[in-house]
Formats: sequence, structure tokens, C-alpha cells
Amino acid sequence: MRWLLMLQVVTALVQSTNLAASYHIPTSMTSAEDVAALCRYTEEGIITYVQECIATAQRIMDDIIIVPDDERTFANTMYPLDCRDACLQQVHGLCELIMLLDPRDTLRHAAQDASKILEAFVIERCSAHKEIYRAVMTYYNGVYTTEQLSSEQRYYVTEMIAGYGREGLDLPDEEQSQLKELRKKAAALCTEFDLAINADAQTLVFSREQLAGLSDMFIASLTNTDDGRYCMEVNRPRAEQVMKYCVVEDTRKAFWIAYSNRAYPGNNLRLQQIIALRDAIARLLGRSSFAALALENSMAKSPARVREFLDDIMSRIMPCMKAECAALCAELPEGVSLTAEGKFKPWDIAYIRTIHKQKYAQLDERVLAEYFPADQTLKHLLQLYTDFFGIAWQEVPNNGILWHPDVRCLAVFKEGRLLGHLALDLYPRPNKFSHAAQLDVVRTQKQVSGFVVVIANFPKAVGDMPALLTYGDVATFFHEFGHALHALLSETEMVGFAGTAVRHDFVEMPSQMLEEFIGDPAILVRVGAHYKTGEPLPQEIIERIVRARHFGAAIDMQGQIFFALLSLAYFDEGAEKDVDQVRSDLYQAICPYVLDLPENHFAASFGHLTGYGPRYYGYAWSKVFALDVFEKIKEEGILDVRTGLRYAAEVLAKGGSVEPSDLLRNFLGREPSADAFFKQLGIILAPSAQLSASSASSHG
Ligand SMILES: [Zn+2]
Repeated sequence: MRWLLMLQVVTALVQSTNLAASYHIPTSMTSAEDVAALCRYTEEGIITYVQECIATAQRIMDDIIIVPDDERTFANTMYPLDCRDACLQQVHGLCELIMLLDPRDTLRHAAQDASKILEAFVIERCSAHKEIYRAVMTYYNGVYTTEQLSSEQRYYVTEMIAGYGREGLDLPDEEQSQLKELRKKAAALCTEFDLAINADAQTLVFSREQLAGLSDMFIASLTNTDDGRYCMEVNRPRAEQVMKYCVVEDTRKAFWIAYSNRAYPGNNLRLQQIIALRDAIARLLGRSSFAALALENSMAKSPARVREFLDDIMSRIMPCMKAECAALCAELPEGVSLTAEGKFKPWDIAYIRTIHKQKYAQLDERVLAEYFPADQTLKHLLQLYTDFFGIAWQEVPNNGILWHPDVRCLAVFKEGRLLGHLALDLYPRPNKFSHAAQLDVVRTQKQVSGFVVVIANFPKAVGDMPALLTYGDVATFFHEFGHALHALLSETEMVGFAGTAVRHDFVEMPSQMLEEFIGDPAILVRVGAHYKTGEPLPQEIIERIVRARHFGAAIDMQGQIFFALLSLAYFDEGAEKDVDQVRSDLYQAICPYVLDLPENHFAASFGHLTGYGPRYYGYAWSKVFALDVFEKIKEEGILDVRTGLRYAAEVLAKGGSVEPSDLLRNFLGREPSADAFFKQLGIILAPSAQLSASSASSHG
């Protein structure tokens, strides 16, 4: 009997695979030539590609509809829907790649147009498609109950049925078309919002004196004006340096104001419209708010649960946060003062923290960066993943096949099987996406080799000096690789569950788990090597990193809670929101020790508001699990390949095909716990005392 069941499941799989092949999707990236072909797009080509994918998707839906009701099976009704989504996801991924990364204006605009056509098709013809809905329900109420399916297939069906509850299929036709209109407008505005952040090209001009405190290497990377001053773009990599190191308060202040006004005022207006449209969508669907709608298929389930979670963290970190602030206030750097009310000025905080770190932990991030030259660090990082996850890498020469000569490409293998290709686009340039991210273009599955991009904006090499990564950059590298490995190690049958296609508040678990590696001495000694001598990171510095690592953890977490609550506040009940007022009220409540100013228009460049919407809390939520998993890995041996393989097989490979809580329970061998998370946040109660005592002993 068991053999018969297995045979039925295998037959269903074979039928499904044949079907995917008949539609030529998803396109497996089986060689560098496949990647080159995908990236050889032109302005007309990208539009044509979108149209072809739309035609394929339409044909798949037509084929599903004509199946007689009494012949419906998983293979002819459900699997084709996954093929349709694979096809649409792939072209969407390519459009996104071009919009975020291609240096050519004309191509980015063409991809934007193509993306709008695609979005309109998805909203008009795929979502809330009544005939498809009827076909799925017929199958669900019929053969589904007796058909032999794998657990992944069964879960796919139930997830799809749950999703229909959010599509408004029971609404009258008129309200359905209203819903479609609202969705189209919201999607177009979100694209405009994202593009406006990338397109913001403000620059500031400073004299050499105004840049005091910044390194010669950093200053050499700036362009000169005719009168010998320095021109600085207002972007994240520049902000990292100026806010931490510039000793001239006026420079930090000018930069902070410019940075807090990126994409303002245009994006404030767009954000207001997005909020109103999303609220209207939620109300049409009978939900109290867009946040309530968006959280229905998350681990947390409701905004109320999220608030409870964030409030709990807030109350627990309060004593640590006060201790951290008191330690910073006690010894302000020369030339820095608090306001009359005793608050920090927003452009001083990063600088004060840097000086504090240098003094008490004797850690200068710029000295530390000399141990992390980008190419060398990448090499060590790849070796680490080879040892831990059992994967192999092969450099694929770019030779003009990718969108920019700076981009590197690696073929990724496991046990001789090509998992996919990984493109690394790591350095800033005009019009490029200004943060770090990972992008799935083609999702890796059981029989599909994917194509994944890691995006960062690390400082570039200048003259003879190689690109040097700060400790924070290396952590970012680990984070984004966590997403990339989640995508590449995927072994799901359905594209809808592949790799990072997990519940939204679980997607940051693998990335934040891998980030923890860089705080471990055994990893630091392997990854860091001086750019001149190749000498590994000295033990003494490693000890200082480990000691200093958690100082500021409570202040950082408070920042995360602010972002999470802000994104919830925007998308909670209410269509009309004064986006600046909401931000200001919340900021004063959550970060009362920092001066709030009307010049702060941060929300206009808060890119997470479109894609993540109200779900920013997912970082803190999934960090609880990330630290728990890391704790388990440490218990078993941080470089133990058996643990790495088990983690890859039991967590990463499953993607979204299993509930996160089941994945965790299975890997941990127990219920998940928040102990490791709170231990990290509460580690330092008297930071200065602790740090100064330990540094005194090592130098006494
Ligand atoms: Zn992430």
C-alpha cells in the first residue's frame, strides 16, 4: 500500500514537471550562457519579454479553465498556477534588477514601463480571477480530499485557499473593479516612491577643514570642485563615514539635514496617497486596516500581537538603554554638547558612540577595516560557507555579460549539482539602489538552478588602496549572504515556496542568524586578515570586538522598535495621516533622549514602507529565532559541517513549504525560546565600567 501511495505521488510529480517543461518555465539557469542571455536585455526586449510572459501566463490559465470539473487533479489545476507564478516572478525579478541596478536611464525607464504592464496584468487578470477560483474550489472540494499528494502539495493548496480570503472574490463586480483600480494605483505609486529615493542626487560641497576627522582615503574618493573644495553625494555609505567620524559639528549637521530630506517633499505626498489607497483596499475587503490585512498570513497574525511583542521588548530593554545613554552622556567628546533639555542632537549620536567605542573598547573601526579588504574577505567568507554548508563556488568571468563591469558572478554547486548563479554588485555608483539587498531573479528549486543578486554599497578601492570593509559592512555581507543562501539552497517543489518565499516575519531569520557569525572569535580569526601583511586579526582585537559588540545593543533595538512602530502606525486604521506628525510624535515617545526637529523628513526615504509596508517588525520578530538557532549551532560546534548540512536541509531547503514554527521545532529539537535574544540585549548593564575595567586589564 505504501508503495502504491509513493508511486502516485511520484507520478503526480512527473506529470507536473512535464507540464512545466511544456510551458518552458521556470527557465533554469543551467550555465553562464543562460545568465548572459537573461541579462542581454534591450529597451524593446524587456517589453517583449513581459508580453511573452503575460501570454504564457494567460495560456496556462486558459488551459486550467477548460479542464472538465470531474477530471481536475493537482497536476492539471494547482501545479499550472505555480508555473504561472514562476513565469511572472522571473520577469518581475528581471524588471526589478534593471530598475535597481542598470546604469542606463533608458533601460531603467523601459523596465519601469514593463513593470507597470506586468503589475496591471497581475491585478487585472490573475488576482481574484473568478473562473480560476471556481476551478481551484472544485478541485479542493472534490479530488483533493482523496488524491495522494506530498505534504508540500497539500500545504500549497491550503495556503492558496487561505489567500483567496484576502482577494475579495465574494465582492460584487463593481467593488471588485474598484479594488483592482485601487491596487493598480497603489502599486504604481510604490514604484515611484522607490525610484525617487534612488534618483535623489543631492550633493554637498565642503572645504578640507570642514571634513576634519575623515580619513585621507575617504577624502580622496570625493570629487573636487574647480575651487579645490570637495563634492559629496548624500547617500548611505557617505553618511556612515561623516556621521561617525567628522569632528566638525556643522558638517555633520548639514549632512544630517540633507540625508533626512532625501526624496522629500515628493515622497511625502506619495506616501500619503499610498496610505489612503491601502486603507481603502483593506476596507473594501472588510478589514479594519491595511496592517490587519497584511499581517493575516504572518507568524504574528495581527497588529495587536505585534504591538504586544514590541512593548514587551521595550519594557525589558529600558534599564539597559538608560545605562547606555548615561554612559554616553557622562563623557561627551570635545566640542559636543547636549541641548538645554539634556537631549542628544541627532547628528551627534553616531559620533559620540564612535568616540566612546574608541576610548573604552579601544576599537577604531577604520583600523579594524584594514583587516577586511573586500576581495580577501569575500574569499574567506566563501571558504567558510564551503566548510559549513558543503557548497562550492566557481568564478564566472563577467566579460560584459552583466549590467556593469564591477559586478562579479559566481556559479554555486552542492554535491556536483549547480544550485544557481550569484551576482555580486557591491559598490556604489550613480542611480544604483542605495542600500543593501538580495534579489531573487530566478528561484532555485528541486530541479531549477536559480539566479540571485546580492546588492551592497561598500566603499570602493581608491588608487592603490583596496576597498576596505568596516565591521558593519562585513556584518551586512553576512546578512545578505544569509538571504542568498536561503534562496540558493532551496529544494522545494513549488516555486511559491522556494527559498525566501516564507512568511514575511520569518524571512530575516537566516540572514540575521548568519550575521551572528561575525561576532564569534572562531569566525573573526578566519575572516579578518590585514590588507598589507595578510596577518590574521590579532587575538587582542578579537577580544575587544567581542567585549564591545553588545554595547549600544539596547539603543539599536530601540531604533528597530521605532521603525517597526512607525510602519505599523502609517498602515493602521485611518486613511488620512500627516506623515511628518506621525513620525515626530512616535519618535518623541520612543526616543525621548534625542532632539526631534521639524527638518527631519525621514519617512520620505524609508524604502521599507513600500515592500514591507507594516511588516518592518519582522526584523525584531525573526531575530528572536535567529539568535535561538545560532545558539543551537554554537552548542553543536560553529564550524561543524554536520550542523551546517542539517541546518541547510531542515530549514533553508524547505523554504516556505513548512510552517516556520515546525521548521524551528524540528531543527532545535525543542520549542523556540527568546532567551538568547534577551541575553544579547541585556548583556551590558554598566557598559563603561565593564569595558574600561577589561581594557585596563589588557593594557595595565
Ligand atoms: Zn535582510
